Amino acid sequence: MPKKCVVCFSRGNLRRYAGHFPWLKASICRTCEAEGAEPLGLILLWISVRGGPEACADAGEGWVTYRPPNYVGWDAIRLLYIQEIDGMLSLIKSELGQEDANAIKSGLPSRLQ
Ligand SMILES: [Zn+2]
Repeated sequence: MPKKCVVCFSRGNLRRYAGHFPWLKASICRTCEAEGAEPLGLILLWISVRGGPEACADAGEGWVTYRPPNYVGWDAIRLLYIQEIDGMLSLIKSELGQEDANAIKSGLPSRLQ
């Protein structure tokens, strides 16, 4: 198992991650697990493929992630999405190509479903 928490990157009290993204092979610390926190990058991708923060506001209400020094909820995650999505999309564009980047941005993933 990875030796750092997938949410906060701490090294203590790790156990197997068993959260919202069941395919994710990762470790999570006891504190993040108790908070119900999920990895920020995956939450942002989840928002993106569902058409952005407005389109998934209802489903997004329950998200919690870690932004030092606090655990934060949907309001903070929504703002982080607005700040971070362009960088994420440019990474996806360089790794997967323009078509997939456009598909994710539009919320209509083609072969990335
Ligand atoms: Zn943690």
